[in-house]
Amino acid sequence: MKKMAKVKVLIVGAGFAGTKAALDLADDDRFDVSLLSNSDHFTYFPTLYHVATGSPKTNAAIPLKTILDGKDITLIRGQATTLDRKAKTITTDDNKTYSYDTLILALGVVTNYFNIPGLAELSYGVKSIDEIETLKKHLHDQIVSKHQPDLNYVVVGGGPTGVELAGTLGLYLKHVMQRHNIEQRAIHIDLVEALPRLLANMPKDVGRMVARRLKRRGVKLYLNQKVEGETANDLVINDKPLQSHTVIWTAGTANNPFFAANKFATTANHKVATDVFLQAEPDIFVLGDNANTPFSGLAQTAVHDGKYVAANLKRRASGKHMKSYSVHYPITVIPIGEGWAAVVRGNIHIYGWIGWVLRQAADIRAFHDFEPWSKSINQWFSYTDSEEACPICLNPN
Ligand SMILES: Cc1cc2nc3c(=O)[nH]c(=O)nc-3n(C[C@H](O)[C@H](O)[C@H](O)COP(=O)(O)OP(=O)(O)OC[C@H]3O[C@@H](n4cnc5c(N)ncnc54)[C@H](O)[C@@H]3O)c2cc1C
Repeated sequence: MKKMAKVKVLIVGAGFAGTKAALDLADDDRFDVSLLSNSDHFTYFPTLYHVATGSPKTNAAIPLKTILDGKDITLIRGQATTLDRKAKTITTDDNKTYSYDTLILALGVVTNYFNIPGLAELSYGVKSIDEIETLKKHLHDQIVSKHQPDLNYVVVGGGPTGVELAGTLGLYLKHVMQRHNIEQRAIHIDLVEALPRLLANMPKDVGRMVARRLKRRGVKLYLNQKVEGETANDLVINDKPLQSHTVIWTAGTANNPFFAANKFATTANHKVATDVFLQAEPDIFVLGDNANTPFSGLAQTAVHDGKYVAANLKRRASGKHMKSYSVHYPITVIPIGEGWAAVVRGNIHIYGWIGWVLRQAADIRAFHDFEPWSKSINQWFSYTDSEEACPICLNPN
């Protein structure tokens, strides 16, 4: 009997959605799976900011080779630039062309500075391991060279990333001062948000409880304050300068420019329009942060999308109808400093230590989406290790 040709699946973007889809398809020999990535590691965003406050890089950046070890997946390094719909190919910025029968696009979002003057050049970002390492070096070197902390550490954006970072930054700064025998001084951490409250996408009481917790930890909240520009010494908010050499921008994202460049239809919120199978066009699936789904913008949604599309492609290969997309209702856990987190699942809101324990469990579970249990538990434990380029911080004696 003639052997059926394999379905050539090209997945672009090795983040939560793309990597999950690749792993789930790789165990089925009806598919020839390639994963095209512009990075050689998988970024686990929920713990990325820990790297700025002392955790090892490996806690948030896992080599793709480790995740794909022993899997029948061809890993290709490259930046996808051009889609040729007729030829069914993707071309990369180094002019290489890859063909597909089925294309999965899961490229994630990019930082958006809303054209606010000075921000792109002067603020620190939290969207990649390189940005986080740059921030960490600045936090450390600034204290050590000036023998005092910056006048203000300003985190912009009262969403989950901004509140988590504002809640934990002080601990690391104190630690650097201690290690370098620098006289402990008050550390001013400011959290700036354009809307009247924190965590605007969550129920009001969650925003209130998180605001209370941050204030107790000494974080000053600037609500209803619009960032208008940044200069070398100040952040300008509501026409007033706030002196700082450390502005951390967590406030905006935009959809990946690949979609506009390749003329994809988008919705009012600039996400890619898809049908009920997350298909933007015949044989082109769009997942995770790129797709216009109700909980787009969360890692949990991206993993769900990756699993869903992989399962549907298997159904289709078996001659069955594809199933319509069903929404995954997320559980959000927002830690503020050590030992406290807010947990939100629909109308259930939990605060405190139990939330923090749940968050640890959620991270181990999430690592396991990409690694065996043994590796995911080790991965989680690496959070408590510390990684320092500075020999004094590494070894105080
Ligand atoms: C700092 C931070 C903290 C977060 N914390 C949480 C949290 O606690 N809980 C939660 O649920 N969500 C969290 N999120 C959101 C979550 O990380 C995203 O929703 C999730 O990463 C989306 O997955 P994705 O697969 O769509 O995109 P990503 O995971 O961003 O993956 C996209 C991949 O595509 C690559 N890529 C981009 N363009 C190209 C190209 N042209 N060619 C090749 N490769 C390309 C990127 O480098 C990346 O590797 C956080 C996000 C950030 C930035």
